[in-house]
Amino acid sequence: MKLRKVTAASAAVLALTLSATACGGGDKDSGSGGDKVKVGIKYDQPGIGLKEPDGSFSGFDVDVATYVAKELGYEPKQIEFVETKSADRENALSRGDVKFIVASYSINDKRKAKVDFAGPYLLAHQDLLVKTDSKIAKGADLNGKNLCSVAGSTSAQNVKDKIAPQANLKTLGGYSECLAALQSGSVDAVTTDDSILAGYAAQDKFKGKFKLVGEKLSNENYGVGVKKGDKATVDKINAALKKMVEDKSWQKAVDKNFGPAGYKNEPAPKIGVIVK
Ligand code: GLU
Repeated sequence: MKLRKVTAASAAVLALTLSATACGGGDKDSGSGGDKVKVGIKYDQPGIGLKEPDGSFSGFDVDVATYVAKELGYEPKQIEFVETKSADRENALSRGDVKFIVASYSINDKRKAKVDFAGPYLLAHQDLLVKTDSKIAKGADLNGKNLCSVAGSTSAQNVKDKIAPQANLKTLGGYSECLAALQSGSVDAVTTDDSILAGYAAQDKFKGKFKLVGEKLSNENYGVGVKKGDKATVDKINAALKKMVEDKSWQKAVDKNFGPAGYKNEPAPKIGVIVK
């Protein structure tokens, strides 16, 4: 009896020690052994970054993130995905919540003042998603109309600055909320990158209901966001992205994630070359 108690006690101590070790290593980013790496993605963008009902993750950004993590020394099981909504991305990096972000994150000067970017790894274009019978055919048609986009996105900023300054723009937390608004009729259009809109339009529950207008309203150069000043990580991620294109993993990820939605993406961008 006494012996059993001692054994149980030492087992408890051992368990504590083990979990302490696991936790202690959790935030380290050395990339070795059992350490974890936290990576920011979107949770609600089908084909790009999606948390599935079973808790798994899918999408082009998820595949890019997984490839990059591997090159940094982390196996898929060592990745902890964290949701980084459009408006939260710069802060998540500054605070050190995540090591890097792959979340339909366009490179621009305003963001470059706060974070660093590797890439670009994809070129998308801002477009409009409307009901199938909508008459909206170009950006200017949005003036006077109800439009939805997401807080902290380049899409919302572009509408205010140039596409349709007279539109009644609603900014919500995520695009899935905009889709709900489009479905209910409280907005006439949703605007963001064609890569994202194509994924929504192809979802079973929306099939036949919405169409992409097909306007290339901007160039969105997707980058991998990194904490400002972390040049070593930027260099490593750039090398990983180059390798991903060269060994055809990039094209495989494109076919797998954009194929089902019929999204015709641009060819792989050159690292360090931003299409203005
Ligand atoms: N790519 C654009 C951006 O970075 C729109 C998509 C998004 O909000 O993530 O703002």
